Amino acid sequence: MSAGKPLIGAKLKFILSSVLTKQSSLRLNALETPPKNKSRKMPYSDEELSHIYERTDGHCHICRKKLSFINYGCFGSKGAWEVEHSNAKARGGTDYKRNLYPACIPCNRQKRDGTTRTARGQHGFKHAPLSKAKKREVRGNNAVLLGIVGGLAGSIVGPWGVAGGAALGVKLGHDLDPEKD
Ligand SMILES: [Zn+2]
Repeated sequence: MSAGKPLIGAKLKFILSSVLTKQSSLRLNALETPPKNKSRKMPYSDEELSHIYERTDGHCHICRKKLSFINYGCFGSKGAWEVEHSNAKARGGTDYKRNLYPACIPCNRQKRDGTTRTARGQHGFKHAPLSKAKKREVRGNNAVLLGIVGGLAGSIVGPWGVAGGAALGVKLGHDLDPEKD
């Protein structure tokens, strides 16, 4: 039988080629599907990061150094920062937003499981830096308060004194440093 040989040959070729295609397609799939745990480097979404960053208007909550939002986790870059658990996880701290603050990398590493109070205290601070909205609010309150004080002081010299004193008070209130502890 001379016709059988090429037939077997063709069949073998078919089987072999189908096995090969299956294998290479498997290999392709493996390349295309990213490994589950490594697909995302950062545990925080951009939205969460910007919320955390804005809490202190982009300052380290411990030493108050200005941070650079885009250099999140970029060790060695200018303004590099990390998310810091104010109440350390080792002390039962949670991942809730209110427990998360931006910190420069040296501060975060140095604080480790220590308390926020101690860490801030080493830099002479008691509170976290204020957010932009909070700064505006404090400035507004100071302006109103000093405006009233100025107005009262000016009233001693008459109506023009009231206006002048109030204006001066408002100006002083705006210029006060809202970060003062
Ligand atoms: Zn710092």
